[in-house]
Amino acid sequence: SLAEKLQDTFKKLRGHGRLSEDDVNTAMRDIRMALLEADVNFKVVKNFVAKIKERAIGANILESLTPAQAVIQIVNEELTQLMGGSVSRLTIAPNPPTIIMMAGLQGAGKTTSVGKLGTMLKKQGKRPLFVAADIYRPAAIKQLQVIGEQLDIPVFTMPEGTNPVTIADEAIKHALSHANDIVIIDTAGRLHINEELMQELKSIKSTVHPHEILLVVDAMTGQDAVNVAESFNKDLGLDGVVLTKMDGDARGGAALSVKAVTGCPIKFVGTGEKLEALEMFYPDRMASRILDMGDVLSLIEKAQETFDADEAKKMEKAFRKNQFTLDDFLDQMQQVKKLGSLDKILGMLPGMGGLKKKMGDIDMDLKNNKEIAHIEAIIRSMTPAERNNTKIINGSRRKRIASGSGTKVQDVNKLLKQFDEMKKMMKKMTNMKGKNGKSMMKG
Ligand code: GDP
Ligand code: MG
Repeated sequence: SLAEKLQDTFKKLRGHGRLSEDDVNTAMRDIRMALLEADVNFKVVKNFVAKIKERAIGANILESLTPAQAVIQIVNEELTQLMGGSVSRLTIAPNPPTIIMMAGLQGAGKTTSVGKLGTMLKKQGKRPLFVAADIYRPAAIKQLQVIGEQLDIPVFTMPEGTNPVTIADEAIKHALSHANDIVIIDTAGRLHINEELMQELKSIKSTVHPHEILLVVDAMTGQDAVNVAESFNKDLGLDGVVLTKMDGDARGGAALSVKAVTGCPIKFVGTGEKLEALEMFYPDRMASRILDMGDVLSLIEKAQETFDADEAKKMEKAFRKNQFTLDDFLDQMQQVKKLGSLDKILGMLPGMGGLKKKMGDIDMDLKNNKEIAHIEAIIRSMTPAERNNTKIINGSRRKRIASGSGTKVQDVNKLLKQFDEMKKMMKKMTNMKGKNGKSMMKG
């Protein structure tokens, strides 16, 4: 995967103390290869690598004591910029209804995405109306009706033979008289872009003036998705992209190239067939995800240098199985102390960036750390049953544990909360790795 490739590159860098210019060139070549293999647009890669190199030289990474960290930081920032910088939200019209028009090729996931958007907006208290303007396949109208019924969202249809432009136009009137504040128009697709398809979409656009034209593209089609986006944007004009099927074997190229090639932000990603499987697209999170993946493995490697092999295996298993008790936590704490600095360890854990920030004022020295001494005391004051299943630790048990460990009940609460959060984080990590150990950014 792209992540693994980048990780390999950074591992090479990590091995070095200082870098030579040759090292930097090698790293840049590796990054370029990794991006191309992830099916990122060629021009995008070229610009991206040039920018990274320029910044790397500007930041004087050759002089930096942790050059790999410096490069990762730059790559992370530039990946985020490449994907649009910050999250792009839907435009909500000041005077309802907000009109959203979905476009895209057949099978991209338009109808499903209409349902997903409806789900999301309804949760936000909106009253959506779906519009069946894909009239060429009777099954398409039925499909939208089934989704509407499931969600209890009305679906606007008209008799067979009605022109899609008329349907869209009438739907807006219907929404106005029925207090629907969002109208989502499901349009027809073709297997390939053609003049007729574009003409129909343009007519709908010039008649109802959508606030949002969202192009739905299938991430699995890689650069094709980007080409489709480019030509829809040129012919129709787009406000955003919905990238579907990111739960599949997509290589990540589309996610990385769409914005750079078309100038249109990705607004949502589809991550499954279910109607809840839609997420807002956060460029910074995606960048971190791309970079972070596989970092669990480097943590385990680092651990292996310090722990004995058995301990490391146990830890890896606990990570993978997400069966992780306070006893394991205590064991790890002992091992972790040997690693030296918490800073380093958090830096290696995926998704821990935020936690690290939150923990900003915590003592990062593990060997003589008061907080860790407290945590150890608290866990040691628990019974084995409590360590195994923190759910049983009620109020009176908390009191007993606090007095046993010479801490306050708040300290016990805090530890239990942190432990819960850690477990949740691990679960997320495991889910991110996906079914069958497949990562989201499969390479
Ligand atoms: P349309 O022709 O563009 O309206 O496409 P549909 O909405 O009918 O979707 C085509 C197929 O893709 C259906 O089988 C959907 O269940 C599936 N699909 C859509 N979005 C996603 C997604 O995000 N993940 C996965 N795994 N499947 C999706
Ligand atoms: Mg459809």
